[in-house]
Amino acid sequence: MSKNTLLIGPPGAGKGTQALYLANKFNLARIDTGTLIRQAIKENNELGQKAKSFVAEGKLIPDDLVLALIVSEIKQAQIKEQDFLLDGFPRNLVQAEGLEEILRANNLSLDFVLCIEVDTNKLLERITGRRICTNKDCNAVYHLKFSAPKKDNICDLCDSQLYQRDDDKQELVASRLETYKLETLPLINFYEQKKLLKTINGDQEKELVSASIERILTI
Ligand SMILES: [Zn+2]
Repeated sequence: MSKNTLLIGPPGAGKGTQALYLANKFNLARIDTGTLIRQAIKENNELGQKAKSFVAEGKLIPDDLVLALIVSEIKQAQIKEQDFLLDGFPRNLVQAEGLEEILRANNLSLDFVLCIEVDTNKLLERITGRRICTNKDCNAVYHLKFSAPKKDNICDLCDSQLYQRDDDKQELVASRLETYKLETLPLINFYEQKKLLKTINGDQEKELVSASIERILTI
């Protein structure tokens, strides 16, 4: 049985780490749409040129273009006899329906939809508590609660000041999580109805998250 898989999870839930792990473990072609688009633009191929024109105008890349990129990746994976692991797409119901159509048209199926679930409050705490050393040669990472520096706001290793990345600030993280929830809930219902959805408890050590995912894919 094929293991064509879709991975869903909120920002900060460790989705990227799990995707890499799974791709290696089961020899899946990881299709990360962000990287895919940047790569196509860099290679300046036909799809890349189209994508570039949208980026240049500051517009979102349309779903059909992203889908075309995904299909071309899937076809390359098939040549290598690899199943695919989709990471970062679809993000909403419209995209999921588009994906469904294009998979059907290419005689492909989706076998697993994995959703990493995390407690939003814990996730907020984990992200907003993060502090990073300002010394670029050090880049040590701390957490105010889980791995606090010995002196307030000072790096243990090099005595430089610590700072909080803009991406880690409360308001931004909260609004990104809110958007995720709004867009993802219909997506989750969609795959639940198709009996493809498996939820994974993301509030545990990453090794345990990997083990849970592995068990699902091994069935
Ligand atoms: Zn430091």
